[in-house]
Amino acid sequence: TGGVDDDLLEGLNPPQREAVTYRGPALLIVAGAGSGKTRVLTHRIASLLRRREAWPSQILAITFTNKAAGEMRERVGQLVGESARGMWISTFHSACVRILRREAENFGFTSSFTIYDSGDSRALIKRLVKDREAERFGLSPAGVQGRISRLKNELTDAAAFARQANLSDPAERLFSELFGDYERALQRANAFDFDDLIAQTVYLFRAFPAVADAYRKRFRHILVDEYQDTNAAQYALIHELTRPVVGAAEAYSSGGMMIFEPEHAPELEGASLTVVGDSDQSIYAFRGADIRNISEFERDFPGARVVLLEQNYRSTQNILSAANAVIGHNFDRKAKNLWTDSGAGERIVGYTGYSQHDEAQFVADEIEAIHRSGVDYSQVAVFYRTNAQSRALEEILIRAAVPYKIMGGTKFYERAEIKDALAYLTAVANPADEMALRRIVNKPKRGIGDVSIETISRFAADRGITFREALGHAGDLGVGPKLQTAITHLHGVLGAASEIMLPATGEVAPPTAVADGLSLLLGRSGYLDALRMSRDPQDEARVENLDEFVAVAREFARNNPDGTVIDFLAEVALVSDADDLDDASGSVSLMTLHTAKGLEYDAVFITGVEEDLLPHRISAGEPGGPAEERRLFYVGVTRARKRLYLSLAMTRAQFGEIASAVPSRFLQEIPADLVDWRQSPADLVRQAPPRFGGGSGSRGGFRNDTPALLPKSTSLDRFANKVPAKVRDNGDMELAAGDRIRHDDFGEGRVDAVTGEGAKRIAHVRFDSGAAKKLLVKIAPIEKI
Ligand code: ATP
Ligand code: MG
Repeated sequence: TGGVDDDLLEGLNPPQREAVTYRGPALLIVAGAGSGKTRVLTHRIASLLRRREAWPSQILAITFTNKAAGEMRERVGQLVGESARGMWISTFHSACVRILRREAENFGFTSSFTIYDSGDSRALIKRLVKDREAERFGLSPAGVQGRISRLKNELTDAAAFARQANLSDPAERLFSELFGDYERALQRANAFDFDDLIAQTVYLFRAFPAVADAYRKRFRHILVDEYQDTNAAQYALIHELTRPVVGAAEAYSSGGMMIFEPEHAPELEGASLTVVGDSDQSIYAFRGADIRNISEFERDFPGARVVLLEQNYRSTQNILSAANAVIGHNFDRKAKNLWTDSGAGERIVGYTGYSQHDEAQFVADEIEAIHRSGVDYSQVAVFYRTNAQSRALEEILIRAAVPYKIMGGTKFYERAEIKDALAYLTAVANPADEMALRRIVNKPKRGIGDVSIETISRFAADRGITFREALGHAGDLGVGPKLQTAITHLHGVLGAASEIMLPATGEVAPPTAVADGLSLLLGRSGYLDALRMSRDPQDEARVENLDEFVAVAREFARNNPDGTVIDFLAEVALVSDADDLDDASGSVSLMTLHTAKGLEYDAVFITGVEEDLLPHRISAGEPGGPAEERRLFYVGVTRARKRLYLSLAMTRAQFGEIASAVPSRFLQEIPADLVDWRQSPADLVRQAPPRFGGGSGSRGGFRNDTPALLPKSTSLDRFANKVPAKVRDNGDMELAAGDRIRHDDFGEGRVDAVTGEGAKRIAHVRFDSGAAKKLLVKIAPIEKI
């Protein structure tokens, strides 16, 4: 057919080609990991553009992370050139932010609304819970937040909840009231939380059909990656967008939106929908994702074409066999026949550390070894189940001088100083946001304590003005002269920043406005000076972080010459788990298993493969919990192209205490001949009497069936000299509060207390460096001095 897209089809296998070329209302591509789903989506978009079957503006592609969106945009750009501009390739959240910004005025918000991340919403809920003394009824802020989130993901708002709840139960009634409080507080602050972004867009479309129709007319091709992880609200959104256009005759123009209409349009039928997914990789049931979205696709979209992809192009056969074996233990799934022709490859490497430090040391040593053999650091990833596990890894990687980066928002944007800077910006961008103002009103310390804050808040409420406006009436607040000066100063600083960042109507702010305004806020508010004057070394790091943040704002200006402070805040709020602003190529990537979805690396380390961690113990009581954990492990395994490492630690500081670990059941589900154990759990058990159990008969907590994990060929001697030098047996060391010790890594310190008994004796040590550590006396590299 003319061949404008021949090269797009080259190198694709027959079902992949079909997925790229099929034209019809609905297409479902279901396939296992690494079978080219994302690649097919990308080529499908390119094919639509090349054949001029769609304008870029008619395409809406949904990816799971902003990073994935960026990669897809770049890839499509490579395939079709400049014409790729104008497409919406984004996450559900980013797409909804764009829609809401344009339409916010329709339903009682203004387009400068703030987005609350989960930390912000937790802080708000905490205050509401406290106000209603709800903890007395067993309602914790975390519990309330989680439940509200799940309800929003099911499109249940506070009013709907109140109608269906059993309000004669006092705790239910209280929760219902808190839900309402929370909704009102968000509305007052002109703010949306993450779940709102989706739900409110759905409500908007349902309440204003003309608005919905405008978007239905615009987006003629909707494509969704990682469809297995969509929740009810996201599903409803897709449904809304793909409905036939009913009010097509009515003209509707919105926020300057252009509606392109190629020659054959406008058809009134719904947009064509393509979704790709793998039910074995569904890992967000806890956030309301529903695998039935896949199984019921054919019912909801009758006549849908289904394409299966079975060839895996990512991993070696050994890795794939391990993945298939593990996921085969889940019931209630359609068996898949995933294969590869890339050969068996190397065996999976297993390692059991004495401690998490020993495990981390193994990871670092191995990374160095494969790096020397020619593998780039950027092709190596280390996964863990919980964020808390990263610290031990980081410590060792830093010492080993292995460059690494942490993928995930927690590292940079969770820092208090960055949150403060964001609150300053928010106070300028959205004066109604009282939460932001409360956060910074006394940072740096200005003597504006809780009492004064309540005074200001009440003054604002009485006068019907915002908190920020109230700051401009310091003289009427009834506070002392010193406080008046402080409040007036803060008000002035915010005003000056507003002048820089928020241009008057018709005026265009210079691209550097955000960065300049930010510098002004941090400078004139005294925030930076307070940090600089402090003698705390951490404060020095905070100044550096803020410098980096100003650099982020400048970078933003370069990429978005028209971007406002509101756009900047939205972008920062949306930096999702898999996104990392300092894109350090040439570093090893550390991340949680959840973040790893969709990515691939030559070498992958999955650490902490232990019961209670992977599967995580919170999953034990949940129906379907262990199966979901197995899928998470499957996601991790299938990220590896050539090398896979599975490791665990015999003891781990977890949930505030040091405990013995049990190897994960998932390890037993992998055929033994696929794994080459450098040091198996059983090796440590056998060595236990001399180096671990101290003759007390302790078996380190391993279950009796552990030896099944031990490959027949393993011999103890082979590992005798692999035992890290740092592991000792201090079983007999007498230690008491007041003693001084020396630690191999941390230097000298004083014992504050000793708790526990026998092999679990723990020394609480304050080192002279200021660090406080809990050490397992038996194996820590310490000596008494
Ligand atoms: P996941 O389930 O992990 O999201 P996926 O199904 O989306 O995986 P892709 O990421 O699209 O899979 O593809 C996996 C790897 O295989 C990529 O490196 C991709 O470039 C490569 N690949 C896919 N199809 C082919 C093909 N026909 N020929 C060569 N390489 C391919
Ligand atoms: Mg993919």
